[in-house]
Amino acid sequence: GVELTFDGETRVVTISNQKGGVGKTTTTVNMAAALASLGARVLVIDLDPQGNASTALGVPHSADIPSIYDVLIDEFPLKDIIQTSPESPRLFCAPSTIHLAGAEIELVSQVAREHRLRTALEEYLRASDEHLDFVFIDCPPSLGLLTINAFTAATELMIPIQCEYYALEGLSQLLGSIRMIQKHLNPALHLSTILLTMYDGRTRLAQQVADEVRAHFPREVLRTVIPRSVRVSEAPSFGQTVIAYDGQSVGAVSYREAAVEMVRRSLTATNEENN
Ligand code: ADP
Ligand code: MG
Repeated sequence: GVELTFDGETRVVTISNQKGGVGKTTTTVNMAAALASLGARVLVIDLDPQGNASTALGVPHSADIPSIYDVLIDEFPLKDIIQTSPESPRLFCAPSTIHLAGAEIELVSQVAREHRLRTALEEYLRASDEHLDFVFIDCPPSLGLLTINAFTAATELMIPIQCEYYALEGLSQLLGSIRMIQKHLNPALHLSTILLTMYDGRTRLAQQVADEVRAHFPREVLRTVIPRSVRVSEAPSFGQTVIAYDGQSVGAVSYREAAVEMVRRSLTATNEENN
């Protein structure tokens, strides 16, 4: 088995890629569940009006449920909306509801519109007596104010990449936005992790794209890749992550490996800084 200890600072990771359908939500919930299964306490913040992360974590998110919308627009404390996933007592979710679809517009006229999530999260982390090891923020597929709130609240950016022809093209646009955020809103934000998802090693194209991404980002790309697997795509319809749905499946095993790698890498980085 894997022995990991979690006692450091809370790592706040935003999962982003302005393309839809590349595996952002799948990666968010499965990395979070994998880390919880390894002993970490993890909060997922669902910032996508579609609420797919809330669904996959088995957390109710119908229109009448207090949600991240109330936090962003009406300044509800985050602690009032957080639910525990039925999957693990260490796995939490700040759900999204359909109301969040209007937040993109409503935020425009709000004070400190880019900092609302950050302020709420800082308050929560300061006041809560229960330590969190990770916060993962699942972003919608656009670079609007919801995603900007995620970039402003996080220190780490994790990008899931599907190994297909246009993968790198969208990436340069995303990295340009990150530089803008670093300059104007959040100098601490950095690209920490790239995860290759829905990988089909039988195709030459997938291998070529993977090689190219690794050549550009040798430090950021995890060695572990997530293969395409039916079990991964089935799990959300049971309100579960693949970790709970089929813990021995190739998808669950690879997300756990990716989680271990993510934890170990930060330890290595910390040791290097200290030496
Ligand atoms: P995004 O959040 O970027 O829009 P999703 O995580 O919702 O992307 O994934 C898009 C679709 O691909 C979903 O139907 C999901 O179930 C499926 N999917 C994601 N990862 C895998 C995988 N490793 N194997 C098979 N299907 C996957
Ligand atoms: Mg999504």
